[in-house]
Amino acid sequence: MRTGDEYIKTLNDGRTVLIDGEAVDNVAEHPAFGNVIRTIAELFDIAADPANGMQYHSEEINGTANRVFSIPRTAEELKLRRQAVERWAKHTHGWVGRSPDHVGTFFAAFGAHAEVFENSERDFSGNIRRYYERILRENLYVSYAIIPPQVSRATTASGWEGDFLQVGVVKETDEGLIVRGSQMLATGGAIADEVFVTCIKPLGPDDVDFAISFALPAATEGLKFLCRRPFAPAATSEFDYPLTSHYDEPDALVIFEDVLVPWDRIFIDRNVETLRRQFFETGAHALGNWQAQTRFTTKLQFIAAVARKITQVNGTDRIPGVQEKLGELAALVASVESALIAAEYTAEADSSGMLVPGKRALYGVMGLQSETYPRVIAILRDLVGGGVLQLPSSVVDMKSPVTAADVERYITSPGVSSEERIKLFRLAWDIIGSEFAGRHQQYELFYAGAPFVVKGVYTYRNYGYEAQVAELDEFLASYGVDGRKEEN
Ligand SMILES: Cc1cc2nc3c(=O)[nH]c(=O)nc-3n(C[C@H](O)[C@H](O)[C@H](O)COP(=O)(O)OP(=O)(O)OC[C@H]3O[C@@H](n4cnc5c(N)ncnc54)[C@H](O)[C@@H]3O)c2cc1C
Repeated sequence: MRTGDEYIKTLNDGRTVLIDGEAVDNVAEHPAFGNVIRTIAELFDIAADPANGMQYHSEEINGTANRVFSIPRTAEELKLRRQAVERWAKHTHGWVGRSPDHVGTFFAAFGAHAEVFENSERDFSGNIRRYYERILRENLYVSYAIIPPQVSRATTASGWEGDFLQVGVVKETDEGLIVRGSQMLATGGAIADEVFVTCIKPLGPDDVDFAISFALPAATEGLKFLCRRPFAPAATSEFDYPLTSHYDEPDALVIFEDVLVPWDRIFIDRNVETLRRQFFETGAHALGNWQAQTRFTTKLQFIAAVARKITQVNGTDRIPGVQEKLGELAALVASVESALIAAEYTAEADSSGMLVPGKRALYGVMGLQSETYPRVIAILRDLVGGGVLQLPSSVVDMKSPVTAADVERYITSPGVSSEERIKLFRLAWDIIGSEFAGRHQQYELFYAGAPFVVKGVYTYRNYGYEAQVAELDEFLASYGVDGRKEEN
């Protein structure tokens, strides 16, 4: 199975990654990406070591593969899959959102439902199957860009002024499709092996040229990653920014300058109806977001531990009001933990025999994520007080003869050394106050779609109101103005 070093070596492939007006030479050697690439490499090394229990025999390739890419067909396989995802999530404490298991999970469900990609004119089911097998065989890191760029949400791409702002088909050739435009917002795109491009937002009949689905290597000619401001280079040290320094995944607008997408890389060709079906009829959306909730749970547990430890260090944990805040935090985290397990417990086999996590529990907890995460952060903010600002400017103050003695004498707590205290509060600042922290707040609110989509579409539609309203109607029908009706 591919190791971390093997992954790193493949990154120097001529891909076009743009920062500060320039193309990056080799992402692995750039300060914006070097450390997060090392983190991803560590994930591959963990999977490559059989002692970590992440390997399994895949029927699809008749060989050993990484369980995070598996198609779960029994309750035991679903559980083992979650544990494998957890194994990776624990390594980053949940701070890497789009580790290779995220998009790989979507492809597991696509692979189980290749029939959705059949087409009367051209059959793409073989393409999707072969692509999934490549993920299994090569332990591939795929990112995705599945949202139209934020030009205007008042209409879809066909209604925008200017042609091909969203990626669409310019022309068809014998070799494949020529695509032009852009797509929002590939997390990890600049450091992944490949990018999967499609559109999850509903499109209308006039948008048919934008109803496409394909995957390309990151180094494809004409493909560009226009990165947001990276935060890692500004991290003065690992001690000062323990999360920013290692887990700052790049987000990038993906731009296509008349890019050729070969036929064998296409999964949907200008078909609005198939586009709609790919995420929801394959079970990919549920399985992929269950992976995301597994990672989210790990992160919340980590933040809760930081909050708890800070109250110990500050000696506030015996105060009933503080215990109540820790209790609320525990309730929030426990509810997400419980939904994860409930989704596993209520999973049902679909037409292909793939177990799809229970949608009621899954989408229920996702519907609250835009309240849960900010509330968890607010509680941590509350508990740390000004302690996150009563810190020296950097680790240098702890070593310099000019400042070290004052730092050691005044920034301390009973039974806790100055170094331990500063370390803990710097970590808390990286969770609540750094640029990395701000990006994470935005990430947790938006990664699965804007909150109005998650609540109004996914949670609402998957709750199962119909059965409950039928029971309510039965109850209402059981009495009238004269009291309880006679049973027949
Ligand atoms: C850090 C981060 C990482 C991301 N990573 C990825 C990735 O890896 N791959 C990828 O494809 N995408 C990624 N995304 C994009 C993400 O999928 C989108 O942000 C998400 O789908 C919401 O789209 P939007 O940001 O354009 O928000 P919009 O849809 O524009 O919504 C913004 C706000 O506008 C309002 N609004 C807009 N339309 C309506 C409406 N019809 N009804 C009510 N209110 C409305 C709401 O207040 C909403 O919260 C990422 C986003 C972030 C922030």
